[in-house]
Amino acid sequence: FGGIVKEPPMHIVHIAVEMAPIAKVGGLGDVVTGLSRAVQDLNHNVNIILPKYDCLNLSHVKDLHYQKSYSWGGTEIKVWFGKVEGLSVYFLEPQNGFVWTGCVYGCKNDAERFGFFCHAALEFLHQGGLQPDIIHCHDWSSAPVAWLFKDHYMHYGLSKTRVVFTIHNLEFGAHFIGKAMAYADKATTVSHTYSKEVAGNPAVAPHLHKFHGILNGIDLDIWDPYNDKFIPVPYTSENVVEGKRAAKEALQQRLGLKKSDHPLVGIITRLTHQKGIHLIKHAIWNTLKRNGQVVLLGSAPDPRIQNDFVNLANQLHSSHSDQARLCLTYDEPLSHLIYAGAYFILVPSIFEPCGLTQLTAMRYGSIPVVRKTGGLYDTVFDVDDDKARAEAQGLEPNGFNFDGADGAGVDYALNRAISAWYDGRDWFNSLCKRVMEQDWSWNRPALDYMELYHAAKKY
Ligand code: ADP
Repeated sequence: FGGIVKEPPMHIVHIAVEMAPIAKVGGLGDVVTGLSRAVQDLNHNVNIILPKYDCLNLSHVKDLHYQKSYSWGGTEIKVWFGKVEGLSVYFLEPQNGFVWTGCVYGCKNDAERFGFFCHAALEFLHQGGLQPDIIHCHDWSSAPVAWLFKDHYMHYGLSKTRVVFTIHNLEFGAHFIGKAMAYADKATTVSHTYSKEVAGNPAVAPHLHKFHGILNGIDLDIWDPYNDKFIPVPYTSENVVEGKRAAKEALQQRLGLKKSDHPLVGIITRLTHQKGIHLIKHAIWNTLKRNGQVVLLGSAPDPRIQNDFVNLANQLHSSHSDQARLCLTYDEPLSHLIYAGAYFILVPSIFEPCGLTQLTAMRYGSIPVVRKTGGLYDTVFDVDDDKARAEAQGLEPNGFNFDGADGAGVDYALNRAISAWYDGRDWFNSLCKRVMEQDWSWNRPALDYMELYHAAKKY
């Protein structure tokens, strides 16, 4: 009777400190929005509770209005409500200044600020008489929700609510994460391979019986080459060659690169150790050696790394001004043009829980070149080496990948990618078309989450 039985709607509340596009730092913000939209599209009720940072990008909030206030933790907390990408969001604004810091992360007392927010969010649910089926919290920053709920709020009339906790990146706040893992009814991380990679971590190991890997997806409305105001020609897999050519030319023009037909490699990333900085540098030089062009869009939270790349940019912009451009900033519109205009998107991460850039790349018909780790391993299948592994997933190979963490490794993948472009343009174009037609949306992951939410209710 599959598909005929209609499930009653569930009520899911995310308590999170990031949300794309109004308060996005990394993938976590994309996931909160993308997953929520997909689950809402399945006719469930989804709310998000978010801090009302002074640095919110309010141009993406519709009908924002003040609702009420309540007292908690020695301060007044104002509640605002608005719509973001069609989702109902409650914004909490404690009058003690914890969210008036001009940033999401980066204060000395982040743990205290977010701990306070988690507590205030549960208090908001309690005082408002809201009894969601699921409270979903994320990473160390909203991990306290798990134990505050079980130690306190569960006994205040929220007894039918279950807590789901998702690890987006175990590198941050493993101590908090271990505690949330213990208290949550169900826990997830963002790919199957990453779930295996972290299974031995003391924060995770005792809890494997309730721990699952569910891949992230991308939001097909936010990332849509047929409807993207940041690229010159709308395209689908049918006119991918023409669409990408126009985007490449626009990109070259905008960045002052030579307008010619070169294999163009794009890199869009936070510049941190996780992302394989030495491999990125190596790949830039190798691409130039192969007479390709490189565009890097990235920013480094660590000023030493930022400085290092500023120096590299100065060097490259004088020695290879026709061929290389490093944009050392955060620029969402430019990222769209790079996804569309590059032929390859390189993601040589040392570890990568899921990774969204390789998925977005494919949506725009760019070929991912990745290191075999975490979610990169689960989503990119090498055209030479992974035919059987792809087939087992019902897919055709879609990119190039490599093992190891040295220059020879990244060369192995990148050289084959660049050669494929030089040697057989028809084949290369058919690969672009093929990756665009693969489904890396939230459709499937949202069903997996719904199954998990249902399992949590029975827990
Ligand atoms: P992480 O969460 O570790 O940063 P993900 O691949 O999961 O990595 O998500 C990164 C997201 O941030 C992607 O949507 C990517 O396009 C975006 N991004 C990263 N760096 C930049 C930048 N400098 N400018 C614009 N977008 C960026």
